[in-house]
Amino acid sequence: MNPVDLIIKKRDSGEFSTEELRFFIAGVCDDRWPDYQISAMLMAMFIRGLSARETADLTLAMAESGDQFNLDAIPGIKVDKHSTGGVADTTTLIVAPLVASCGVSVVKMSGRGLGFTGGTIDKLESIPGFQVDLSEAEALALIRQNQVVIMSQTGNLTPADKKLYALRDVTGTVESLPLIAASIMSKKIAAGADAIILDVKCGSGAFMRDLPQARALAELMVSIGRQVGRQVTAVISSMNQPLGQNIGNALEVIEAIDVLKGRVSGDLLEVSLAIGSQMLVSAGAAAHEAAARIMLLKQIQNGAALERLRRMIAGQKGNPAVIDDYQLLPQSAYQVVWPAPCSGYLTAMDTAAIGRIFVDLGGGRKKKNDTIDYAAGLIFYHRIGDYIIAGQPLAEIHAQDPGKIERAKEQLGKALSFGHEPAASSPVILDLIH
Ligand code: URA
Repeated sequence: MNPVDLIIKKRDSGEFSTEELRFFIAGVCDDRWPDYQISAMLMAMFIRGLSARETADLTLAMAESGDQFNLDAIPGIKVDKHSTGGVADTTTLIVAPLVASCGVSVVKMSGRGLGFTGGTIDKLESIPGFQVDLSEAEALALIRQNQVVIMSQTGNLTPADKKLYALRDVTGTVESLPLIAASIMSKKIAAGADAIILDVKCGSGAFMRDLPQARALAELMVSIGRQVGRQVTAVISSMNQPLGQNIGNALEVIEAIDVLKGRVSGDLLEVSLAIGSQMLVSAGAAAHEAAARIMLLKQIQNGAALERLRRMIAGQKGNPAVIDDYQLLPQSAYQVVWPAPCSGYLTAMDTAAIGRIFVDLGGGRKKKNDTIDYAAGLIFYHRIGDYIIAGQPLAEIHAQDPGKIERAKEQLGKALSFGHEPAASSPVILDLIH
């Protein structure tokens, strides 16, 4: 077997055997395949697609490309969650400590920003001192101590995904159903949780733009999970506008803390409760969704979820004082209000374009090894359906350089649509797939 033959095979719509996919993943990990051949292969897979069998084989080869956590020593059902990627999607930072505060162990392996979407690891690294690279022994010790850990693809966990993810981010090969399914499920399998809740995003700020595509992705991932004996549930949620009001690494940490302080309601809280409820039900900690929701809301009201976040941050060597003093998080030199360009109802948001504005502000990467600006981002004061008067503050732009702010203002004008009639309202939770 040689790389160029396999690239040509997929370019010409061939179907790979299990051995060929294993050869590809082995070559990715031991550097026998240079980045340019891996990128060509990713593009061929992106364009030609992979069958369900190829996707499952690719997933398993990726899951087995490095170490796999064995969580048997931790009592009870261990749960994990993963989002397919969105904008202002801060749910992990809310849900992980919230569910742990209900007595369920949460073991979460997260990624960095991908394309126009944000990544939990980048958000956590905006907290001074926070460590995401943990050994298996350190992760197990933290789960025993706090029942929650959020880590990166540490050490030798799914090294294949680490490499493919970073290349997909910068080669236009992100929005592929089989590549997303393999990337997510390989991490989930290697991280070892018994029950996995997937948040499959759908809409203008997601890789899956419509409900049939989102359902297909959810069903593919649920079926891969079933093949390896994991209990997988997918919540399909709307990403037709940024989920929270803050877009930005440090800015999203602030909003997550505000949710756990009980100060934020709306879509971000709703999606967090929907995912958290499925996690509690899957772990057997609640009999049904309604009971789980009551438990979660109680943990926010009585401060237990916020305390669990504090313990999680301290356990992972971050400064927990950020919870009480947001000034300890990175701050932008320029924070400028953007006034509404006209009067009318806000009818639509091109959420992927908004994600790209965030990347341009410095919050995400354009090249594999770019450093990011943890303070950069946007705060939206309004949501779809709101009536806005020209000149009224619509958003706030945070950056280290005034040139970036000016470019963001121009782009924002193109990303939002206004009309004389309000857009029909639609629910944020669109479907549930077991
Ligand atoms: N999240 C991942 O981990 N991988 C993807 O490909 C998309 C979202």
